[in-house]
Amino acid sequence: MVSTFPNPSSVDLSRIRLAIRSLQPQLVEWRRRLHQQPELGFQEKLTAEFVSQKLQEWGIEHKTGIAHTGIVATIKGNKLPTNKVLAIRADMDALPIQELNEVPYKSQHEGVMHACGHDGHTAIALGTAYYLQQHRQDFSGTVKIIFQPAEESPGGAKPMIEAGVLKNPDVDAIIGLHLWNNLPLGTVGVRAGALMAAVECFNCTILGKGGHGALPHQTVDSVVVAAQIVNALQTIVARNVNPIDSAVVTVGELHAGTKRNVIADTARMSATVRYFNPSLKGFFKERVEQIIAGICQSHGANYDLEYWSLYPPVINDMRIAELVRSVAEEVVETSLGIVPECQTMAAEDMSFFLEEVPGCYFFLGSANPAKDLAYPHHHPRFDFDETALAMGVEIFIRCVERYFL
Ligand SMILES: [Zn+2]
Ligand SMILES: [Zn+2]
Repeated sequence: MVSTFPNPSSVDLSRIRLAIRSLQPQLVEWRRRLHQQPELGFQEKLTAEFVSQKLQEWGIEHKTGIAHTGIVATIKGNKLPTNKVLAIRADMDALPIQELNEVPYKSQHEGVMHACGHDGHTAIALGTAYYLQQHRQDFSGTVKIIFQPAEESPGGAKPMIEAGVLKNPDVDAIIGLHLWNNLPLGTVGVRAGALMAAVECFNCTILGKGGHGALPHQTVDSVVVAAQIVNALQTIVARNVNPIDSAVVTVGELHAGTKRNVIADTARMSATVRYFNPSLKGFFKERVEQIIAGICQSHGANYDLEYWSLYPPVINDMRIAELVRSVAEEVVETSLGIVPECQTMAAEDMSFFLEEVPGCYFFLGSANPAKDLAYPHHHPRFDFDETALAMGVEIFIRCVERYFL
């Protein structure tokens, strides 16, 4: 694929790199400070205060309190006049996990931990804001930096969009990253098209008729009905979805019964559904209900079904993904460090931004097994190699300068 963005000179490249490398101590300091005070979704009070205080210190115009705790900073370049606007998004929230790492910057909030790396995302976004503010003469256009709450749950992207963060001035494109321990430090996972899955959920209660375990003819056994439903649901992916499209239907919970000789009158299940192809929206809801209704009817059972959609799939724009890929290749210094096979069935509410404007979300490799920094995300021992922080800033800065060229 040929990049539609011109290449900067090698002088420009080393200038950016040197300036950002010198920021590394501050990036680590900010990240560790945030790591020590993790906060759950929509409760990012200290985090937002810290971000706002830094932006103020550097003279960066910003709005706070958007969708509770979100912040949007605006930095105008003065290289050449242009109305183009590029947004950079970082999430700020932590998880309800008790940290097991014994590090000087361990979480000081009982039962709450930055176990997904969003402390790093916030530090990278701050470093990017700082650099851009100092180097306004090096880029044209306007950069909006979006500090988003509640990515893990219940989702802060949608309320921020509803609050107008993509408007006035209108955002033309958006980029964002996730530090990624599924990839080693020095690599970047980036691809055009689907990167992360849509997530939908359902809860279903099978309403049968209880009775004695030795007299099944007097009952409607909810366990037998539920077992058939769990099996039949697997045929949606195996028989109804185009095999070229990836999808998952996982029944993660199934509860029924109280005793071995009692036929349970109800069985409850809850499930998660994942897929990449946006055209499958609505398809699973319909098929799940058809299967449940059909099997219940054939057994004389009833059901209660609650089905809802959480996040749409993360779909990257081809042109912006190519911009990120070409920039990332310069930062990791080899095309071998670019991993296009990085799709995951995990979900992200960055997808709501990408439904509104073209953009690219990418994974920044952050695992370093030699330093014991390779635990998976959401693990109580999760931590990442902080060398990735400066790489993240460098990719963002180079994207900004290149986007407005
Ligand atoms: Zn997470
Ligand atoms: Zn995350």
